[in-house]
Amino acid sequence: MRFRYHQPIPNFYSIENPHHPKNTISDDFLNEFTDIAIASRFVGLSYSKLSDEFKMEWGIDWDNIIILKYPMSEEILKMDPSKEKCKLMDEEFQEVGAKAFALADILRENGFRADLINPLDDRVSLRAIALQSNDAVITRSNMCLFKEGLNLGFFMIQTSIENLPFKDENELKWVEDYCSTCGVCIDRCPENAFDENDKFLRKLCTAHREGCSVCINFCPFYKRGYDKVKKRYSRMKK
Ligand code: SF4
Ligand code: SF4
Repeated sequence: MRFRYHQPIPNFYSIENPHHPKNTISDDFLNEFTDIAIASRFVGLSYSKLSDEFKMEWGIDWDNIIILKYPMSEEILKMDPSKEKCKLMDEEFQEVGAKAFALADILRENGFRADLINPLDDRVSLRAIALQSNDAVITRSNMCLFKEGLNLGFFMIQTSIENLPFKDENELKWVEDYCSTCGVCIDRCPENAFDENDKFLRKLCTAHREGCSVCINFCPFYKRGYDKVKKRYSRMKK
């Protein structure tokens, strides 16, 4: 399900894909590209290698995905759900989207195929692709958590680059166990979007329609950050 208040982003490419794209990137250029991404608005990059099974399941032919993660504005997240909040979230989405196109252009300029995945395309789940990175998990409140934070939006570029630093293991698997001991989001949710077994009920959640972010604001991963929650979890387990 998409954020219903987002408008399509205009096509901002200024460079065509190369006719014979390269499929190997040097460490130096990947570092430089990451620095440019971080300087422009993003907090970090993750990478998904899509398996044949995954591609078949979703009817896509993309292999290599660069995930560009950006922090959503804290001031906007603090606002109550409203049309104004949705408008501000969409403006932020549009602004960051333009920067994601610029990053795709940099890859094209340097000989790689790079296409931004339409974040409003209902045929494929960006969250499902994000989970393929082994760099994210879904929290109890149905948010996609990366180490850089809970308040992240993301754009994705599908590319010809085959040698991105894909991860084989997911270090965030412990989060599911931590969530089972927490439940703050369930207590704070104004819509009671959890069933009697504390399972998230998408139909009742108003995040996608009205911009609710109450559970983000109260979640320890947002308030304290990933590393502090992990330390706390490690102490709990001793
Ligand atoms: S508030 Fe607690 S249970 Fe809910 S997502 Fe955050 S850590 Fe998990
Ligand atoms: S309705 Fe709001 S608080 Fe409840 S789960 Fe959805 S986003 Fe979180």
